[in-house]
Amino acid sequence: MTMPREKPTENDKSKYSLNQIYFYLTEGCNLRCSHCWIQPKYQAQGRSYPALPLDLFRSIIDQAKPLGLSAVKLTGGEPLLHPQIYEILEQIQAEGLSLIVETNGVLCTPELARKMAKCKNPFVSVSLDGADAETHEWVRGVDGCFATAQQGIRNLVAAGIMPQIIMTVLRRNQDQMEKIVRLGEKLGAGSVKFNILQPIARGKEMHQAGETLSIEELIDLGRWVENGFSDSTNLRIIYGHPIAFRPLGRMLGGNEDGCGVCGILGILGVLANGSYAMCGIGETVPELVYGHADTDRLEDLWNNNHVLLEIREGVPDRFEGTCSDCLMKKICLGYCLAYNYYISKNLWASSWYCEEARNRGLFPESRIAPKPMQNNN
Ligand code: SF4
Ligand code: SF4
Repeated sequence: MTMPREKPTENDKSKYSLNQIYFYLTEGCNLRCSHCWIQPKYQAQGRSYPALPLDLFRSIIDQAKPLGLSAVKLTGGEPLLHPQIYEILEQIQAEGLSLIVETNGVLCTPELARKMAKCKNPFVSVSLDGADAETHEWVRGVDGCFATAQQGIRNLVAAGIMPQIIMTVLRRNQDQMEKIVRLGEKLGAGSVKFNILQPIARGKEMHQAGETLSIEELIDLGRWVENGFSDSTNLRIIYGHPIAFRPLGRMLGGNEDGCGVCGILGILGVLANGSYAMCGIGETVPELVYGHADTDRLEDLWNNNHVLLEIREGVPDRFEGTCSDCLMKKICLGYCLAYNYYISKNLWASSWYCEEARNRGLFPESRIAPKPMQNNN
C-alpha cells in the first residue's frame, strides 16, 4: 500500500462518521464450515477460546458514540458463544444502538432471542446451507446442527424477529435454492439471501477443489433468481452478486440486507483480541489491522490511520480494471475492498467476479462508462 497523495483536511475528517462497528466477538466457533473466510478455531463443548473482554467492548462503544455510531454488528466466530453475550446485548439496548447479528443459529435460545428483540431494529441472519440435514451438515461440519439452527430460527420468530436465512451457493447445494425459500416461508423468515462463495481463506480451497460454480453458472442463477423466481414468494430474496448484474429495479437496498453495497467508508471491525481492523479480514491479513483498543484512542485511529485515510482519498476514483470503468462504482464501492485486497494485495483491484465476467464477455456492457470522445484537433 502507498500513503495517500493528499491528506484529508480537518473538514474532510468530520465527513466520515463511524456509523457501524462489526464486532468479531469470539475466536472460536461451534461449527467448522468448509467455506468460512474467518477460519475460527473449532470450539467443541467444554472448550473455550478467547473472546472480546466486556470492559473493552464497553469502552469501544463509549468512544464510538461521539464519532457517530448508530449500529453494531455481532459476528464471529460465533457471537452467541461469547460468555457475556447477555451483558453485551443489554449494553446495546441501553445505548439505543441498532443491532445486527450474524449467527449459525445453534445457540439461539428463546431467552437470547428475546434479548435481541428488545434492541433497536434487530436484524438477525442465520445460515442454512442446505434444505436437509445431510447437505447443511456436509458444509457446516457438525452433526445435528441442521435441527438446532432451525430451532434457533423458530425462537427468533417467536420473539418477534423475522430473520434472514443466508445460503452460500455451492455445487453441492445449488439445486436446493428453491427448497430453502420454501423452508424459510415455513419457518417464518423475513428474507433469504444467496451468497456467492468468495475465493478467500477456506473458500479459496473450495474454489480450487471445484466445489463452487463457474462464473457463467453464477450469473445464470442470478438471472433466474432476479428475473422470475423471487416473484414466487412473499419473502425478500437477495442474490449477493455485484450490483452491475442486477436489474435496474433491484439495484439499491439496505446494506444490512447484505445487498453487495459496501459501507466501507463508515465501518470499522473489532476482532476478538481487541484489534481494530478493516473488518474480519484482519484475522488473515495483518496489514489490514489498524491498531488495538488497549493502546489506541478510537478517535485518533478513526481520523488518522493511514489505511483509512488512503481509502477515503481513493474510493472510488483510484479503482482499477472493471471497477474503474463501471457506472455503478460510486454506489457499489468495489463490492468488497477486503476481498479485493485479499486476492490481489492491492486496495484498488477490481472485484474478481466482475473481472472474470468481463474477461468472458459476460459483464453487462450497459454498466460500462462510455469512453470520453477523442479530440483530434
Ligand atoms: S462460517 Fe460462521 S458458523 Fe461457520 S465456521 Fe465460520 S464463523 Fe463459524
Ligand atoms: S465492476 Fe466493481 S464497482 Fe462495478 S459492480 Fe462490479 S464490483 Fe461493483
